[in-house]
Amino acid sequence: DDNLLKKITSHAKEYGFIFPSSEIYDGLAAAYDYGQNGVELKNNIKEYWWKAMVQMNENIVGIDASIFMHPSTWKASGHVDAFNDPMIDNKDSKKRYRADVLIEDVIKKYEAKIEKEVAKAQRRFGDSFDKEQFLATNPNVKRSQDKIDEIETRLGSSLAKGDLADVKALIEELGIADPVSGSKNWTDVRQFNLMFSTELGSVAEGANKIYLRPETAQGIFVNYLNVQKTGRMKLPFGIAQIGKAFRNEIIARQFIFRMREFEQMEMQFFVKPGEEMTWYESWKAKRIAWHKALGLGEDNYRFHDHINLAHYANAATDVEFNFPMGFKELEGVHSRTDFDLKAHEELSGKKLQFFDHEENKSYVPYVIETSIGLDRMFLAVMSSAYTEETLEDGSERTVMKIPAALAPYKVAVLPLVKKDGLPEKAREILSDLRFDFNCQYDEKDAIGKRYRRQDAIGTPFCVTVDYDTLEDNTVTIRDRDDLSQIRVSIDELKAKLKESCSL
Ligand code: ATP
Repeated sequence: DDNLLKKITSHAKEYGFIFPSSEIYDGLAAAYDYGQNGVELKNNIKEYWWKAMVQMNENIVGIDASIFMHPSTWKASGHVDAFNDPMIDNKDSKKRYRADVLIEDVIKKYEAKIEKEVAKAQRRFGDSFDKEQFLATNPNVKRSQDKIDEIETRLGSSLAKGDLADVKALIEELGIADPVSGSKNWTDVRQFNLMFSTELGSVAEGANKIYLRPETAQGIFVNYLNVQKTGRMKLPFGIAQIGKAFRNEIIARQFIFRMREFEQMEMQFFVKPGEEMTWYESWKAKRIAWHKALGLGEDNYRFHDHINLAHYANAATDVEFNFPMGFKELEGVHSRTDFDLKAHEELSGKKLQFFDHEENKSYVPYVIETSIGLDRMFLAVMSSAYTEETLEDGSERTVMKIPAALAPYKVAVLPLVKKDGLPEKAREILSDLRFDFNCQYDEKDAIGKRYRRQDAIGTPFCVTVDYDTLEDNTVTIRDRDDLSQIRVSIDELKAKLKESCSL
């Protein structure tokens, strides 16, 4: 639903979550700035991930590597030679596209056809509808599925072989037209390297071409022995990192879904060779459980296992989320073998082996990686939270039903009126709460209006201070989602809020 994405984009701007970058100069394509509420939500997502991955696991530690790395890093990792997207231009509209994305859009159309058939049959058969059986036997579904398989296989194999002429042939055979102009007048397909480069030091010193890291993973690989030795880690163990990554995406679009500067939360888990499949399955299960525990809706997730694997992987899956644009990759879980460490050994000439005391031998560990885009996670939270509601009294509200643990503010403390000692009492409560919870204080405008403002930024609880508070030391807690109000004593307030804001 493109409309929903537009609504979320404008809500995010209006309520201080995300602004277009350098807006006074009309912005910079696909670059965004996180505002005062956005940065809180983003920090909370990071913390939720860090706690689950590092703090809760004895054998996982974190690092924070630099964005600039020795240029040989990217030679070894394969990024200099192979981190390319196939690009194609339309000669009439002069628009540039990713050739594989144009082809994948055709696949999406066939997928939509299948979904339509399923919905139709579901309506016809009602409760007795057996989806599995229908998918396996319906001839229309089969035709679409065969087509999907045929296109996927052809695209996968021509990309793997680097046969760009065949990618173009496929675009022509499928009759793909420029979505903007409808023209089918295409250039050849070319490779486009996604790494940003810059120069280290002044030119006079002899400039050295370096890259902005396109993934955080390599900072972990080149440090794995430093961490292993200084932390006396034994296999299996993991290293986690949160940080910026940069990719010169051919088309960056769909709000913060695909940007040229973004943040990743990655974890590389080093295991004994031969045990990687067990750990791959285990991390797949752990990551999906992490997502589901958050409460963005269990049906909003699915796995998409890769058939065509990247050069470094022997198994890979995407955790897809149901974004406003449909199911798309949110996180990748990859079994990266010993590809990276072996390549770094070769190019650096340094041994990167782990000494296994039990087996009394050294070897290069295998690696399972979990890699999630922080900004995409932010969009997942925003899009599942965004809700427009008509209330019982007929009024409308837009409420962000953000999980309490992630919400920018947990509590807003609101004096009912701005006089008779209520603001003073409210500030007293505020100063008692604010060390434990990120709080807002608001005394401006009618109470209803103030509730709406908190709804719009997703504050799960409003604490209202009224005249009774001065008499009996109780306050009202209003719940953002069901609008229920309960009366509690100020002494119990902290405990009540803590209970509701933890995961
Ligand atoms: P895609 O297929 O969408 O380009 P990818 O397969 O190249 O993604 P990975 O290299 O596996 O992505 O990166 C891991 C994660 O980093 C992705 O699952 C995604 O959440 C995030 N990510 C990758 N590229 C971008 C981007 N341009 N903007 C925002 N997040 C990104």
